[in-house]
Amino acid sequence: MTLSPATLAGFTIETTARHDALDQAAHELRLHLARIPAAATRGVIRLSASAGPGDAFTVTVAPNEVRIAGANPRGALNGAFWLLEQAGFSWLAPGGDGTRFTPGRVIPLGVHEHAPAFARRTLILGCDALHDDWPAWLQLASRNRLNDIFFHDTPPSRLDRAGALRPATYDELAADGRGWLFERWDSDGPAIRAAASDHGMTIQFGGHHLPSLLPRELFAGHPDWFPLRNGERNPRYNLCTSSDGAIAALRSAARAFFERFPGADVYHLWADDIRGGGWCECDRCAGLSPSDQALRATNVLADVLAEVAPAASVAHLAYHDTIEPPAAVVPAPNVAALYAPRPRSYAFAIDDPACPHNASGHWQPFLGLRKTFGDASRVHVFEYYSDAILYRWLAPLNLEVLPADLRAYAGAGVTTIEDLAVTPRPWPGPAWHAWWFARAAWDPQADPNAALHAFCEAAFESDAPAFEQAFLALEDGYRLLLDLGELQQIPRHDILDFSDTPREALAAKGRQMERALDHFHRAARSIPLAPAGMGMAAREELAIVISYATHLANRVIAWDAALAGDRAGALAAIADARTALSATEDWCQRHLTPAHANLAANMLRAARYHTGSIETLIGAITVP
Ligand SMILES: [Zn+2]
Repeated sequence: MTLSPATLAGFTIETTARHDALDQAAHELRLHLARIPAAATRGVIRLSASAGPGDAFTVTVAPNEVRIAGANPRGALNGAFWLLEQAGFSWLAPGGDGTRFTPGRVIPLGVHEHAPAFARRTLILGCDALHDDWPAWLQLASRNRLNDIFFHDTPPSRLDRAGALRPATYDELAADGRGWLFERWDSDGPAIRAAASDHGMTIQFGGHHLPSLLPRELFAGHPDWFPLRNGERNPRYNLCTSSDGAIAALRSAARAFFERFPGADVYHLWADDIRGGGWCECDRCAGLSPSDQALRATNVLADVLAEVAPAASVAHLAYHDTIEPPAAVVPAPNVAALYAPRPRSYAFAIDDPACPHNASGHWQPFLGLRKTFGDASRVHVFEYYSDAILYRWLAPLNLEVLPADLRAYAGAGVTTIEDLAVTPRPWPGPAWHAWWFARAAWDPQADPNAALHAFCEAAFESDAPAFEQAFLALEDGYRLLLDLGELQQIPRHDILDFSDTPREALAAKGRQMERALDHFHRAARSIPLAPAGMGMAAREELAIVISYATHLANRVIAWDAALAGDRAGALAAIADARTALSATEDWCQRHLTPAHANLAANMLRAARYHTGSIETLIGAITVP
């Protein structure tokens, strides 16, 4: 026995109590069901909610009545979106164009109970271009049953702009080079808080802002507030956490920060974004690891936050040189660890024993943090599935790795899972990465192939089979491209800049890139010229992906050939890399907005720099 979407569309909608999120659930049901021609059957959808904890829901479907009962009001919203999904709706990209309806679905009668695997499921909006579109992203997150939104800024914003307005042009923003989140929050903060409340969502706020709480200009008068490095006080990076003056200044700046940016559940005031060497070596700090020094600073922030916003917490970032658990300093009760395994490999799951880089290099420190913080619910996981900086313009599907990661995290007791969305470019077409994260965050046991099938059907209608093939080919290509093998990261290079050390690992990477390219080009060949649904936009997305993957792969192939003394092979590959980089730049000319400039300009410059370095290598090959 089933209920048809047309029958459902004829039902009236009632809420049993007054609550913003229940009203929002009723509004969403009306908004979506109005798109379906209604049958004449009478019936009612009743929305109710308990007081929690958690945002599970039960939907009871009978011929003339559907009852949606949330464990809390957000749970009722989840139930409403679940019901709409059964009726054929899906939300694949921000904005109205991303709302899709697949006809022909039916809703089974009976009792349907669903609970999320993670209590807090977070979309991180990590750059100005995404903040500019925050209402659409918040709505997309909510409809895909995420319950937390994190306003984070890469590159970090400035606290000391004194009311300056954000420039309007690409060139001005590229020259400024910093984020504009603080100005965004000054203008939109009340609206963001109201929207989050309507959607039953919590908010997180911040980024690498610890150093800006202690302006570097103070160094002249107070050198002892800043870290001792190589025998001298140095204002670059962080602070000396043994200095009473620095701590007093930090306390007062932290108070001002929390008061200027109210309303978050979790605040982030992390240390400088560097691999290491940012902390203090003075007599009183020398015995403390970077993790301990960072936690000592975070505990100071936590003490202030407890006075300003007693229910909120502040994050201790475990990342680069603070990835190891603190050993000497005990976290304050309102400090949560934030585990951010950015240098891990995305070709393997985080705990996959087949990948020692992940299993020993990243999963072990995670287990250590869990021990230090005493409880996995205090270790929040900051993942990178929608990070087009880390992925260098690309957008891997992480079809298998993402749910495998989330099974590992859920199995270890993690309750907060977060996905960083940050990008130097728009994502035309459906945003698989954000959609898939939301699905797997609700249920890490979700079947990847079934999910891909449903996604393609919703996005591409009659051309779904061709896109499914294309996406599977991309997945194969990405698995090869993202494999870090035995390569050791070069200082000041990013992960996907790869490396020539050890030499044999670069040769293996070059061969792997040849195979990866075959898959990327197979993906390009498998989609029609004028596809249905969101297919035209997806072609635009594929254009930048193929261009940059071709650039990156050929750069690595040329690097290996140059070191092998194969001048002809290196020249051919680097010429292909140059052509593909030009195609990337052309794409950027057509698609970037000024808001992308503070990330895109540097990333394009870096790609040209790395290409030039390989050309120099090739130029140095002596011809016998
Ligand atoms: Zn010190």
